[in-house]
Amino acid sequence: MSTGGDDVTQRPELAPLLVESADELYEHAPVGYMSSLVDGTLVKVNGTLLAWMRYQREELVGRKRLHDLLAPGARIYYETHYAPLLQMQGAVREVAVELVRSDGSRIPVLLNSTLVSDEAGRPLVVRTTVVDASERRQYERELLRARADAEQRARTALALGHVHDGVLLIDEDGRIDVLNPAAERIFGVTSAAVLGRQASEVLAGWSEISLAIRPGRHVEVVPVARNAHDQWLAIAAVDAGEGIVYTISDVTADRRLDQLRNELIAIVSHELRTPLTGAYGAAHTLLARGDELSPASRQALLEMVVEQTRRLAAIIDSILLASRIDSDNIVADIHAFDAAEVFDGVVQAVPAEARMRVVVETETGARARADLDRLRQVIVNLVDNALKYSTGAVRVSVRTHGASVRYVVSDEGPGIPPAEAEHVFEKFYRLDPDQHLGVGGTGLGLYIARELVRRMDGRIGLLPRERGAAFHVDVPAA
Ligand code: ADP
Repeated sequence: MSTGGDDVTQRPELAPLLVESADELYEHAPVGYMSSLVDGTLVKVNGTLLAWMRYQREELVGRKRLHDLLAPGARIYYETHYAPLLQMQGAVREVAVELVRSDGSRIPVLLNSTLVSDEAGRPLVVRTTVVDASERRQYERELLRARADAEQRARTALALGHVHDGVLLIDEDGRIDVLNPAAERIFGVTSAAVLGRQASEVLAGWSEISLAIRPGRHVEVVPVARNAHDQWLAIAAVDAGEGIVYTISDVTADRRLDQLRNELIAIVSHELRTPLTGAYGAAHTLLARGDELSPASRQALLEMVVEQTRRLAAIIDSILLASRIDSDNIVADIHAFDAAEVFDGVVQAVPAEARMRVVVETETGARARADLDRLRQVIVNLVDNALKYSTGAVRVSVRTHGASVRYVVSDEGPGIPPAEAEHVFEKFYRLDPDQHLGVGGTGLGLYIARELVRRMDGRIGLLPRERGAAFHVDVPAA
């Protein structure tokens, strides 16, 4: 379609519409107009403004001043800023005020005023256009509300980001709607990767969890298989209408504590019972039939009482020491000493019949910085183990090893498989818990040894060996 050469304003059908008088334009303009004298008295207003203000023309013209139409706050502003500015600059632009309608209601407007002067520069009249700002106000209010909402949401997200428990919102279709950082940690996922996806597809064990946990008041503890270990989760679910909110805390550590407590009870009852039975049996025999026994038998029974009660005391000591270690109630007394001093008394500490098996090799001159008594205790424990788990010679040595002093306790027994090298230092851990080899123990010795060595800034570990076990203990050289 081309309009080239065709003057649209000349079209006959439009002609009547285009004959608008300036008056009509003034009256029905989309903005309000008013003219006032310098003292503010209104002398002319258009229909638009009258309609907005709900006044008749005769109620305003000659009767009221611009000032009278302003809301109280705006009136002060008018006196202090608007009127002086107008005087000085001859114009004022875009001033937001509220006008008061005849019925007392208010209308937010923007005022633009121009001062018209005569040729001599004397002010004659003020022409003011009034723009209805209700919509703009509404818009501003909505903007503010939206901002407040967004801030509220941000605060909620902040709180959710800092709670210790995992929080998940799963929608009716089983998709993840919300997943806070704690939940990310518990499931080992990131929100970016899983939001909007099916929980059962992306969260390990979710299918079982959603079956086991029904919305209600109860917190349930469920195991979730995770890389060979069970992770224990305490979960509560609440129906939130648009989905289910789950709060989840990882109680694996508590479970582990429970488990340790149970192991402790099992071990204590078993390990204490054996020497107790031995000592009781020997003492009872002595009491009942002591007179009938040969001096040698009596001696043997008495030694048995002593040995078994010593064992009892040792077990109780190690349980107490482990508990002091757990409550961090051990302070190492670190000082420098001749590294070989550690061996003083080590041989004496082992049972007489086993002393022959212990071979001590020392490098003279090396000095260590550690807690001498605790270090000796560790070495005695390693020697005890070596004697307990092997039958041949047990070698104990010390030499300088870089910036450390290295003690090694080795034997020719069954050794420790590399896969177990870390585990043997765990609390209550025993390679042969059912004692097929007939050797008892609490599984606390190496745990205590590792913790004591750590407190001396040292390290304990196993050296690779073809045959037998070789433990090393490194402490700083002095
Ligand atoms: P306990 O000897 O009381 O069982 P430890 O913590 O001292 O506890 O040792 C943990 C486990 O490590 C032992 O049960 C045993 O299976 C294994 N172990 C320790 N020392 C040796 C060793 N010299 N040779 C073979 N196995 C050992």
